[in-house]
Amino acid sequence: MKKLIDYKEEIHKCSKCGLCQSVCPVYKITGNDCSVSRGKFIMLNGIIKGDLKLNKNVNKYLDMCLKCNACKDFCPSDIDARKIFLTAKSEYFQQAPEKKIISLFQSNFVFESVLNMVKITTNSYRFLKFDKLARKFYPIFLKMGNLGKKVILANEFVTVYRLPFTVYPKRLSPLTIVYFKGCVNNYINPKTKNATENVLSKMGVKILPINFKCCGVPFLSCGNVEQFQEQAVFNLAQIPEEFDFFLTDCASCQNAFKEYRDYIEDENLLKKLAKIQEKSMNVNEFIVKNIKNIEFSKQVSFTFHKPCHLENIDFIKEFLEKSKNVEYIEMKEFDKCCGLSGEFAIKNPALSEQISLTKAQNAKDTNADYILTSCPACVLGITQGLIANSMNLADYLPLNFIEFIALAEKI
Ligand code: SF4
Ligand code: SF4
Repeated sequence: MKKLIDYKEEIHKCSKCGLCQSVCPVYKITGNDCSVSRGKFIMLNGIIKGDLKLNKNVNKYLDMCLKCNACKDFCPSDIDARKIFLTAKSEYFQQAPEKKIISLFQSNFVFESVLNMVKITTNSYRFLKFDKLARKFYPIFLKMGNLGKKVILANEFVTVYRLPFTVYPKRLSPLTIVYFKGCVNNYINPKTKNATENVLSKMGVKILPINFKCCGVPFLSCGNVEQFQEQAVFNLAQIPEEFDFFLTDCASCQNAFKEYRDYIEDENLLKKLAKIQEKSMNVNEFIVKNIKNIEFSKQVSFTFHKPCHLENIDFIKEFLEKSKNVEYIEMKEFDKCCGLSGEFAIKNPALSEQISLTKAQNAKDTNADYILTSCPACVLGITQGLIANSMNLADYLPLNFIEFIALAEKI
């Protein structure tokens, strides 16, 4: 595993051209050089040289980053900012005063106990129909300012809209699937998992019953590398040698598996990981590739937000070629971060809301019937923007793409 000092040469490649400023969503709002790669590299270079300490102030600016890597795509020196910032974060975490308390909270026992309590609470909340009741009070919550908006956001996160998913005739397929569901499906809101299992089972593929743990992204983004490694080793050990595809409906979970290779040292696990990577695919891409045609009973339109960690959206083109009665309307800046990015939204709530507000406005401007994406955090980010814009959520329901596929009349 690399240390900050190992990135010395890469950091020196920064020519201070400032091009990253033109694409960084955080810099666009703050105008502060420390919130974009250029300024952060100056700070990190100072730390490597010993002129600066990796202290709370530097950490504050490391946290002021969506890890979206938009700056890398634009950087003439092709510097992988995300990797460098995550490494700096883990070095800060090693000596941070809050390390003990965070490590305790993120230990497997405590973390999973909390998630299980969340699961019981959200299930009971839905069972008692509190989500539906709360929706009736949205106009009042909106008048309550920030607190009211947070209540709406939390309610939207757990609510399961009863969409008319189609039950398709079963077909038989020889394919065996490992489906990594992720924590949102497992503990907070199973709607995407329901849609995925509905479509996959009707396609006749065999989903292997595997109990994974969290992919580890929340630990990695706060610098807790040891816990991230633990999650990686556990999750990889659960995957059998023989299967056809490794699927996930969350771009961040899929990317976490890709990142495991930088954090594990065991040669056998690395070999296994390489094989898994060859079979790894976003669930939407898999379904679009494996169905012949998709038919919606009436004309529908959608727009799509590309999550930062989703490699490409080529499957949309194929989806349109195979589908009937569907129109795609590209939103402005469809590939710019939605502003949520887990820890970023917790540490920088005002910035997060502002970024998601632009995203929601861009989506709304398309006038599409559905706003789609492929990551539960992005669904939440777009919802946050819609609430900040005081838009009627029922008119702009953001969904994972697979939930949209499950609405089709025939697949
Ligand atoms: S675009 Fe790259 S080289 Fe230019 S200032 Fe930003 S990080 Fe440095
Ligand atoms: S990763 Fe994203 S948020 Fe962070 S500095 Fe680069 S462009 Fe800005």
